[in-house]
Amino acid sequence: NLTDRLQGVIKTLRGQARLTEENISDAMREVRMALLEADVALPVVKEFIAQVKQRAQGQEVLQSLTPGQAVIQVVHDELTELMGKANVGLNLAAVAPAIILMAGLQGSGKTTTSAKLAKLLKEQKKKVLLASADVYRPAAIEQLKTLAKQLDVDCFDSNATQKPLDIAAAALDFAKRGYYDVIIFDTAGRLGIDEAMMAEIKALHTLLNPIETLFVVDAMQGQDAVNTAKAFGDTLPLTGVILTKLDGDSRGGAALSVRHITGKPIKFVGVSEKVDGLEPFHPERMASRILGMGDVLSLIEQAHKNVDMAEAQKLADKVKSGKNFDLDDFKAQMSQMRKMGGMGALMDKMPAQMAGMANKMNPDDADKAIRRIEGIINSMTALERRKPELIKATRKKRIADGSGVQVQEVNRLLKQFEETQKMMKMFAKGGMAKMMRNMGN
Ligand code: GDP
Ligand code: MG
Repeated sequence: NLTDRLQGVIKTLRGQARLTEENISDAMREVRMALLEADVALPVVKEFIAQVKQRAQGQEVLQSLTPGQAVIQVVHDELTELMGKANVGLNLAAVAPAIILMAGLQGSGKTTTSAKLAKLLKEQKKKVLLASADVYRPAAIEQLKTLAKQLDVDCFDSNATQKPLDIAAAALDFAKRGYYDVIIFDTAGRLGIDEAMMAEIKALHTLLNPIETLFVVDAMQGQDAVNTAKAFGDTLPLTGVILTKLDGDSRGGAALSVRHITGKPIKFVGVSEKVDGLEPFHPERMASRILGMGDVLSLIEQAHKNVDMAEAQKLADKVKSGKNFDLDDFKAQMSQMRKMGGMGALMDKMPAQMAGMANKMNPDDADKAIRRIEGIINSMTALERRKPELIKATRKKRIADGSGVQVQEVNRLLKQFEETQKMMKMFAKGGMAKMMRNMGN
């Protein structure tokens, strides 16, 4: 991946005393390959390399920097620049209600992100109205209504028999009369770009005249993200981009291209499918992350925010007292790992050297495995979780059916649990309890 390759560049340059035209060229060839492999669009790569080369050649290597570090510093600065220098927040400076229009392909994360934004704005004491004009996909409007309910935010009562433009007009009227500060307008997307969709979103844009028109794009789309971004950017006066599913993206190339192609700032990134999985986009942090310097700070922040301290303490006490470690505890342990953003997020944010040790395990697979385990345990009764030894053939079959897996997988989970349980018992008298407590501090 990008980080690995760039780490390779640093290593190659490490032994060298000076920056020469030759070793810069060599390094740039690697950087170029790395960026292309990370799905960064070719024109972006070309311009980027030219820029870095120019700056690196003009660069006097500071005494504290080795040539390798110097090149990386330049690459880092240029990456930051490419992604927009500094974070740009939402612009809500409009006569209330400030209107936010969400645009993007189907599945890009518009509805989820609408809810995430609503949550964020609610926390800023704004009166928020969600509205959906996605009349094409079954249950799309329901999806938004459900999320709104979960967040205790109002959702305009539209339905799939209405026309999108009628919904927009009615929702706007409702928001005005209800003195809402912000209305977030979720729209339909198609699987690919088509004229009908573009015409519709354009008409909605004209009618609503939003202060923010946010293009939502799935970071995992790689090169396709660029084409989509271009099509939307040509049709709508976008004001910003939200890059979703960054938690699943090991390559990060989309972040580089999308900004360049649309010319619009990435305002937020989606980092999980949950409603709190939205973070302001920081170009510098992203650059560090891509370069594998490790965004340790945000990792620590994240850990503090999400690890349920009481839960950690409870678990620690339980282990300490030598009480039986059951499947509920096992599940709590797993979900705690997930709350920290999952294995992928953790490994991503670790410095490359550290992550290198864990490299053998694919973080995506690890996350998926955790989710499946949680699913399986969810299909067990409370009694079974407390007394896993009760789980024999018939129960296994029922649990497997309930969670949509094969019986073998239930067996594997039980085996894994047994091993963890053994380990917990072993450590009960020793250092484990202390470690768990430290986790909560
Ligand atoms: P829409 O069709 O554009 O409205 O997309 P949805 O909001 O329905 O999202 C499509 C899928 O992507 C859903 O399964 C979401 O849970 C998932 N999703 C959205 N944003 C993120 C994100 O930031 N991270 C992850 N992992 N999943 C996301
Ligand atoms: Mg949707």
